Amino acid sequence: MVNAVKAIRGMNDILPEESYRWAFFEQTVQRWLSAYGYRNIRTPIVEQTDLFVRSIGEVTDIVEKEMYTFVDHLNNDSLTLRPEGTASCVRAAIEHNLLYNGAQRLFYLGPMFRHERPQKGRYRQFHQVGVEALGFAGPDIDAELIVMCARLWSFLGISGLRLEISTLGNAQSRALHRTRLIKYFEQHHASLDEDSLRRLHTNPLRILDSKNPQMQALIENAPKLIDDLDEESGVHFEILQRILRDQGIDFKINLRLVRGLDYYNRTVFEWITDKLGAQGTVCAGGRYDGLVEQVGGKPAPACGFAMGVERLLALMQECGKIIDSPVPDVYIVHQGEQAMRYAWQCAEFLRNEGLDIVLHCGGGGFKSQMKKADASGARFAIILGDDECNAQEVTLKPLREAAEQKRLTLNEVTKMIRQ
Ligand code: ATP
Ligand code: MG
Repeated sequence: MVNAVKAIRGMNDILPEESYRWAFFEQTVQRWLSAYGYRNIRTPIVEQTDLFVRSIGEVTDIVEKEMYTFVDHLNNDSLTLRPEGTASCVRAAIEHNLLYNGAQRLFYLGPMFRHERPQKGRYRQFHQVGVEALGFAGPDIDAELIVMCARLWSFLGISGLRLEISTLGNAQSRALHRTRLIKYFEQHHASLDEDSLRRLHTNPLRILDSKNPQMQALIENAPKLIDDLDEESGVHFEILQRILRDQGIDFKINLRLVRGLDYYNRTVFEWITDKLGAQGTVCAGGRYDGLVEQVGGKPAPACGFAMGVERLLALMQECGKIIDSPVPDVYIVHQGEQAMRYAWQCAEFLRNEGLDIVLHCGGGGFKSQMKKADASGARFAIILGDDECNAQEVTLKPLREAAEQKRLTLNEVTKMIRQ
C-alpha cells in the first residue's frame, strides 16, 4: 500500500459529526451581527507580507515567529497567510474607499494561520469571527462591541465568562510610559529573560505580556500606564465604564492587560474563561485609532475584536449546550425496477414540499435497506414495492416511535410529517 497523505500538523479537518455544531455557531453569529447592523466583508486569505508587518508590528509574537510567509516564485512577491483579520479589513476599507460613505460596521468569519505549537485550543489553522467598527471615535462604540458580546454568550449557551478591560491611552501617554518602562527594566536588567532583553529597547510593552513565571513579580511591580494616562483617554475610559454599568455588564479593570498586537490604543478588553485550561481567552479586542493611517488611509478612528471559534465551541460543550444534529425526515427504501423509478419521483415530490429526503442508493435487500434507514437517523421510512407503485401510494413507517406503519398518499405524508 502507498503511504497515505496526512493533513498538516495543527490544521484540522472538521468532520460531519462536528460540522453541524459549526453551522449552528455560524448561523447564530450571523443573526446576532445583523441584529446590531454589522455587515459581512470577505477578504482574501493571502496578503502582501508588508501589510501584516506594518500593522501588527515588527516586534510581536505574530510577526517575529508565527507567520506563514512564502515567496510566490512566479513573480517573487512575499506573501503571507493572514494571521488575523483586522489588517485585511482595514486594507480593503482603504482600497475601496468605504469610509467615504461614513463609518462602517463590518464583520468577517474565517480561517487564520499562525505557526504556533499545536495544543488544546491552539492550532495553526484556526477560525475567528472578527468585528470592526471603522470611523467611530467615541467610547459608545467600544461599549457597543462589549455589550453585544455579552448577548452572544447567552445565545450560545455560554456562562461564566469574565470581562477584563483596560486603557492604553494615546500615543503621547504610551511614549511616556514606554520611557518609564525601559528605565524600570534597565534597573532590573539581571532579572530579564532572553526574550525580554531583546524587546527592552524595541518594544518594552511586550515584556509585560511575557508568560515566563520567573518574570511575573518583576512585571507586577512595573510602572503602570494609568499613572501616565492623558486626560482625554481618562474621560473616554470613564464613559465606557459608565455605559457598561448601565447595561449591567460586570467587568474587572486589569491594568496589566496587554494585547499581542501593536496597533491598539485606549480601550482594550478580553473575555476569559477558567473552563478551558491555559487557553482561556475566547475573545479579545480594542481600539486602534492609528491603524488606518498607518496602512496608508486617511486617519480614521476604529475599534474591533476577534473571537476564537474553536475555543468558543469547546466552551459551549463545557457548558453543556446541546445542539441537535440534523436528521433527514424520510429515508426511502424500494424493491424492484418499477418501485425504484417511483421512488425517485416520490423523493423529488417531497423535496419540493420542503422535506429532507434520503433516497436509498446501492441496491440490496429490504432488510439491509431498513438497517440503513435506521442508521440515518431519519424520523420515517417510506417503503415502496410494486403494490405501492400500482396504487400510487406509499407505506410510511415511523422509525423513532412505536407506531403502526400506514398506507398514505404523498400529500397525506407531507401533512403528517409537517404536523
Ligand atoms: P493568545 O494569547 O492565546 O496567543 P492572542 O492574543 O494571540 O491569544 P488574538 O490575536 O487576540 O490572540 O486573537 C483573538 C482570539 O483568537 C484569541 O482570544 C483566541 O480565542 C483566538 N486564537 C488566537 N490564536 C489562536 C490559535 N493559534 N488557535 C486557536 N485560537 C486562537
Ligand atoms: Mg498568540
